[in-house]
Amino acid sequence: MNRDLVDRLRQFHELTAGEFRALLTMRDPLDVKYLMEQAREVAQKQFGTKIFLRGLVELSNVCRNDCLYCGIRQSNTHVSRYTLSREQVLQCCELGYQTGFRTFVLQGGEWGEQRSPWIADLISAIRLRWPDCAITLSLGEHPRETYALWREAGADRYLLRHETHNERLYSLLHPQGMTIGHRLQCLDWLKELGYQTGAGIMVGAPYQSLGSIVEDIQYLIDFKPHMIGIGPFIPQHDTPFARFPAGSADLTARLYAILRLALPQTLIPSTTAMATVAPDGRLRGILAGANVVMPNLSPEDNRKQYALYDNKAALGAESAQGIKQLADELATIGYAIDWSRGDSPNA
Ligand code: SAM
Repeated sequence: MNRDLVDRLRQFHELTAGEFRALLTMRDPLDVKYLMEQAREVAQKQFGTKIFLRGLVELSNVCRNDCLYCGIRQSNTHVSRYTLSREQVLQCCELGYQTGFRTFVLQGGEWGEQRSPWIADLISAIRLRWPDCAITLSLGEHPRETYALWREAGADRYLLRHETHNERLYSLLHPQGMTIGHRLQCLDWLKELGYQTGAGIMVGAPYQSLGSIVEDIQYLIDFKPHMIGIGPFIPQHDTPFARFPAGSADLTARLYAILRLALPQTLIPSTTAMATVAPDGRLRGILAGANVVMPNLSPEDNRKQYALYDNKAALGAESAQGIKQLADELATIGYAIDWSRGDSPNA
């Protein structure tokens, strides 16, 4: 019966809410294995046994927002705040380019609009120096004009997890004034402006229910993002959610598999949070149909300061030795690095 659901999802890319719930809760290990195998097969049909790399540059941990789960939320006074200089960012990209990276992801806390021209200028500089690279932004919510400015400057992709599609849960995870309505509006603008757009959630976020995860699956199927960023929630000790348990690697992997079958062409990273909750988390993500890994190119000194959650795993793949380690790790499951830009097949 469960395997029949897996087959139908693979064939038709859609199930009812009750059927998605059945896939999320099924217990027979053989059924779960079947789901993973099918997802892997679909991922391999689309991308082969190759994994795209993205070089992550953590631009700044300064943030105007106060998301209750996040270690760099504005009201966390224990964070030592930093912002990389333009030169530092370009150095990170240079190092990444020499190593072979052809996608840079600029991620950071959300700044006020007065800094948007500075970002635009940085994007232009990267675009000019490395015209063959993709530039991905992950800088939160901004007015449409700001997204347009950055797009014109040369940004190609934008990651903005919707975090949860459920209005009530969204309000429990975020401060007053932040709404799911506005988040979704931002995602629509990004797509309209021609960005390859990424949405996604944290698995096991406080107060999250299976019903809300099903809502997220249905929203993602409807929105058809080019990328889906999903990782387990992990508590950070200075946030209001410090005492909540971390989300599970199993459920996260199961969600990768379900979404791979629902949206075969989507780029799905096996996230750092996955690697943090389980020692073999990154590989488990790939075996569930993920096809992207995002090593960190940020300066060594700043990485600890970008502490969204506790015990964040470090991949260190920016160095030649780190890349070799990653390649060796992937080889243990029969996969290899793909050094191309890795655009979305449906871009
Ligand atoms: N400010 C941008 C934004 O809000 O999209 C980008 C940076 S934000 C820190 C990137 C992502 O980190 C969020 O979308 C959230 O899902 C994830 N994140 C934050 N705190 C986390 C936690 N405690 N555990 C797991 N993931 C977390």
